[in-house]
Amino acid sequence: MNNILTLGKSCCGCGGCEQACPRHCISFITDEEGFLYPSVDANACTDCGVCLKKCPIASDVPRGKDPAVYAAKLNDRQTAFQSTSGGVFYAIAADFLAHGGVVFGCAYDDDLKAVHIAAHNERELKRLQGSKYVQSDTRGVYRRVKEALDQSKPVLFSGTGCQAAGLRAFLGREYDNLLIADIVCHGVPSPLLFEKYLQYKGGKMGGKITAYNFRSKAKRGWDLYYMAETARKKQSDYGFFDPYYNAFLNCKTYRESCYQCPFANSERPGDITLADYWGVQKAHPEFYDSNGVSLVLVNTPKGEAAWEKLRKVTTSVPSTLEQAVVLNKNLREPSARPDCRDTIYEGIDGDINEYFSSKLAFKANPKTKLKKMIPTGLKDKLKKIKS
Ligand SMILES: Cc1cc2nc3c(=O)[nH]c(=O)nc-3n(C[C@H](O)[C@H](O)[C@H](O)COP(=O)(O)OP(=O)(O)OC[C@H]3O[C@@H](n4cnc5c(N)ncnc54)[C@H](O)[C@@H]3O)c2cc1C
Repeated sequence: MNNILTLGKSCCGCGGCEQACPRHCISFITDEEGFLYPSVDANACTDCGVCLKKCPIASDVPRGKDPAVYAAKLNDRQTAFQSTSGGVFYAIAADFLAHGGVVFGCAYDDDLKAVHIAAHNERELKRLQGSKYVQSDTRGVYRRVKEALDQSKPVLFSGTGCQAAGLRAFLGREYDNLLIADIVCHGVPSPLLFEKYLQYKGGKMGGKITAYNFRSKAKRGWDLYYMAETARKKQSDYGFFDPYYNAFLNCKTYRESCYQCPFANSERPGDITLADYWGVQKAHPEFYDSNGVSLVLVNTPKGEAAWEKLRKVTTSVPSTLEQAVVLNKNLREPSARPDCRDTIYEGIDGDINEYFSSKLAFKANPKTKLKKMIPTGLKDKLKKIKS
């Protein structure tokens, strides 16, 4: 056998093989945990090996080395507020749109499923803002990227390291009109788990969840607070106090390939890499902003050209990789796989209340709980008194 099935659980699910297969004999199907894996029509497959050549895990993809590193934030505070970190993604994307370009990235569809879409205007771009902590469906997107590139449109593609590398492998060559922005990622839970979670959460809130923001800044600024909305209610709380989010932050529910992710280091597949600048308070105290700070790695000359264009709309300070990796572990290594990962998805198709309250049960640290109950204004006052 010389096809994509040899990868087994190392497959990252980018979907590149399906889109590249010259005989169209690969399709993606959902496994029992809700992750997409390739299935090959053995009668049609000729073992040509194209799928392996186009796979970011099985092939070598060009990567940046020795990036220039910055702490950065968008000058437009409202747009940064609506973004996860400092809003640098929006700034890059807006520049592409202003030049007649198209921006590919992850959005929620009408059912709150994370899917990669093409944004052609500001309204569509807003759907890409914000981190969705679940694996995005990229089926068909690399073909659409190539179509736009072949029409000579400026194209920005954004996604996790494996999705960015998947695009590079799929295209197999450089395009002057393409910029790839990869985001630092510590792993992705399955779409099925998120779907079940939304049902569970909706049940708790007494209505269907109509919007979900993993990184809402409304309550506490730049932190790990979610905002869930139904037609009648809004609820925001600290991620560690929620079963889905807690399991995500503790690396319990990731796709198997995430625990061996070859892109969880500082040699990045994107021209530019975006992340939260966790630890900026220590590295650059004067630059800390409760509205969010982005970490930017400029990996290639193309990335540098794009970054230079942002000078007018962003504020930044130079930083170093050594400073950046202190609290951004996934720029050094993949997330560790806990033993509970073996069975964490068992029961996902059963009673959802039972599943989330037992399988994904967690103990909130009482000290953290107390800390998170103190209103932000009071916290700032206490800090001032202390100093
Ligand atoms: C699953 C996941 C794990 C992450 N883990 C880390 C981490 O460990 N450390 C860290 O510093 N940063 C992490 N990030 C990145 C961080 O949360 C921000 O996405 C990043 O800093 C960009 O923020 P922004 O303010 O520039 O833009 P935003 O406006 O927040 O931009 C969102 C960008 O993220 C992309 N995106 C959103 N959800 C997904 C998804 N599910 N799959 C692929 N792309 C997506 C969009 O296409 C867009 O490009 C993670 C993001 C995701 C989605």
